[in-house]
Amino acid sequence: MERRLAPGQPFSNEAVAELIKEYRPIWAIGHALSLMGWDSETYMPPEGVRERAAARAELTVLRQSMLLRPKFIELLERAAKQEGLNDFERGVVRVLEREVRIARAIPPELNAEIARVTQEAMLVWRRARQENDFAKFEPYLSKIVSLTREMADRLGWKEHPYDALIDLYEEGMTARKAAEVLDKLEKGLRPLIDRVVARAPSRHALEEIKYDVKAAEEVNVEVLRLLGYPLGTRARLGVSAHPFTTNMGVDDVRITTRYEGVDFKRTLFSVVHEFGHALYELQIDRDLAMTPIAGGASLGVHESQSRFWENVVGRSRGFAKLVYPVIRERLRFVEPYGPEGLYEYFNVVRPGPIRVDADEVTYNMHIIARFRIELALVGGEVRASDVPELWNDLYEKLLGIRPRNYSEGALQDIHWSMGSIGYFPTYSLGTVLAAQVGRKISAELGIGFDELTRDDLGRIREWLREKIHRWGMTYAPEELIRRALGEGYEPEHFIRYIEDKYLGS
Ligand code: MG
Repeated sequence: MERRLAPGQPFSNEAVAELIKEYRPIWAIGHALSLMGWDSETYMPPEGVRERAAARAELTVLRQSMLLRPKFIELLERAAKQEGLNDFERGVVRVLEREVRIARAIPPELNAEIARVTQEAMLVWRRARQENDFAKFEPYLSKIVSLTREMADRLGWKEHPYDALIDLYEEGMTARKAAEVLDKLEKGLRPLIDRVVARAPSRHALEEIKYDVKAAEEVNVEVLRLLGYPLGTRARLGVSAHPFTTNMGVDDVRITTRYEGVDFKRTLFSVVHEFGHALYELQIDRDLAMTPIAGGASLGVHESQSRFWENVVGRSRGFAKLVYPVIRERLRFVEPYGPEGLYEYFNVVRPGPIRVDADEVTYNMHIIARFRIELALVGGEVRASDVPELWNDLYEKLLGIRPRNYSEGALQDIHWSMGSIGYFPTYSLGTVLAAQVGRKISAELGIGFDELTRDDLGRIREWLREKIHRWGMTYAPEELIRRALGEGYEPEHFIRYIEDKYLGS
């Protein structure tokens, strides 16, 4: 269904229109970088990596220098001074001012140094994790923390250097605000976890069953069709080592999954998760295409969309009933379990050391641990060498488990080796928001997730389009959330969602 921004053109101000025109080559470089990124993960022969990395670095520098051209800055300043701009036009100015501010704050030499160190660090991290050798990674972590701290200082911060870092991923977020959400989650979830574990099954026989990859692929495709993914026309499904979503524009969005050959819900839910990310990009208004505001509002809002589809919809009883026939036809081994067995399989709860394997009940505890470690590292209260011990203590406190080694402890995630400090909290912010979205949709559309029809899925997509997706980056994340939900981050709703689902009658 096509829908135009109402009424008239979104960009009628002449100064903004000119700015957008001047932005076009910058957009094109971003488009090329996305495509190169997709190719790197899916089809590039492994030894192409050196030249690809060099080409991407060059284009990134070129993009940055184009943003900082005097002519572009002049146009941006002129646009910012205009009166009577509409929301879209103001959005364009806000997004570009932010980009320029960040580009100006970080000198090219620092960017180059970060790129050099992280490229090496990622290789070292991979080996260190394989060999369970934290000492190997430690000097890199230490260097990355100090470079990141330098970046924070250059970007500027008021209360905590972490503010400057988290803002890179979540515009307007601060350490204090994130801590408020995460502390509430810890307080509310900690007692629930024990009760849920005592009650919910911690294993399911389907987890052990091997599947035929071709058949699982067919299930994924059918489920994507059911969800309304425009496979083959505006979207693709590929295979990569780590599932992800990328978009070249509003009409070219691509997701990947992986096939491990056992425990099919892993590939299925990675597909449903990435579908949520993809739908967001696919439902941004076409009028915003190729402009600075054609994209998701933030990582947290993006993650709320993937987790809403993965958890609130995908792990609901209604969804299990809806997809059961699709799955049974291709993976006959589900037959004895029926839709209710499938629902139980989808919702196994088991506290474990690995974040990416975590269920929705325990997931946030993994994030809380990382957030606290990052805060202490960036604040200079602990050193890289303290991390493994701190990690294990936090896991003991939050989840009641102690990782047996570094590989399933402090070495499990790639993020720090990539220099992505400040990123983790967006996963929890997204999870919290997903529950709020589910609650709002139930209230406004009268949809209960215990019974879902194909038609309900369409109505949910439309609701998301109207309230969240179509706006792209027009509004800063907090404003978008308030407009869509009438409230800010409210972790109580997530806690209640978990309580109702796992401990309700
Ligand atoms: Mg995601």
